[in-house]
Amino acid sequence: MQEMIMNDDMFVPIGVVLFIFGILIGSFLNVVIYRIPKNESIVFPSSKCQSCGNSLKWYHNIPIFSWVFLGGKCAFCKDKISVQYPVVEFVTGLIFVAIYMKLGFVWYMPFIALSFTALFSLVMI
Ligand SMILES: [Zn+2]
Repeated sequence: MQEMIMNDDMFVPIGVVLFIFGILIGSFLNVVIYRIPKNESIVFPSSKCQSCGNSLKWYHNIPIFSWVFLGGKCAFCKDKISVQYPVVEFVTGLIFVAIYMKLGFVWYMPFIALSFTALFSLVMI
């Protein structure tokens, strides 16, 4: 019983941390989804606007938040940025939380999460 109560207390904080972690992974997935089909490196160069080619500043690159803050537009040329970016980030965050809700905090969770996110990025490519 004691254990149950402790789990309940930790459920929301752990869920929030996992959601943020998932969003960060989702942000990386966006790079993968966009660059792999074009045979570009997924490490270099840093993120650029697809229209004007300006390099994005770190604060243009905060998952979900930046897209909302910039109104879904490039900070330089005001061209539209695909809604796919924040959606992929959000969904990846949800995948992490869903696995946690289903299985709890288990050691093999990263592996399940990675398989799901890999599948998810394949679908998006
Ligand atoms: Zn631009």
